[in-house]
Amino acid sequence: MRSGELGGHCGRCEYRQVCGGCRARAFAEDGDVMSADHSCGYEPPGNRPLVAAGAAGALTYGTERPRERTWTPEAEARMARIPSFVRGVVVKRVEDYADREGIQEITVELLDGIRKEMPVDFSKKLPFFLKGKD
Ligand code: SF4
Repeated sequence: MRSGELGGHCGRCEYRQVCGGCRARAFAEDGDVMSADHSCGYEPPGNRPLVAAGAAGALTYGTERPRERTWTPEAEARMARIPSFVRGVVVKRVEDYADREGIQEITVELLDGIRKEMPVDFSKKLPFFLKGKD
């Protein structure tokens, strides 16, 4: 598995070295541990530079991230509901968005706006094992 090539959208994804998708899910759905993780809604274009694991500034899942912006207590409370293993990545993405938009303070309203702009609302996406059961 360590030396194999990932298939499907995971195989052409620029995040494959830092993410790689869930191999157990790939096996459960396709019988192939190297196939795509179908639970991921990201459709990589396939022509972006690879995001290398361990590169300077690379994100590491599971690490808490110091805040670079001011977060309201309500926005911090919202972050506390996100699973700890992914919270630091979400904080980074939100603060990157705020940087691009020139926003100084992270509020619940900003978080709601970012969520509405996401191509996939993961809170409404059924887990793969429930597909076709509604
Ligand atoms: S699960 Fe999604 S983000 Fe991760 S490697 Fe596969 S396509 Fe990329």
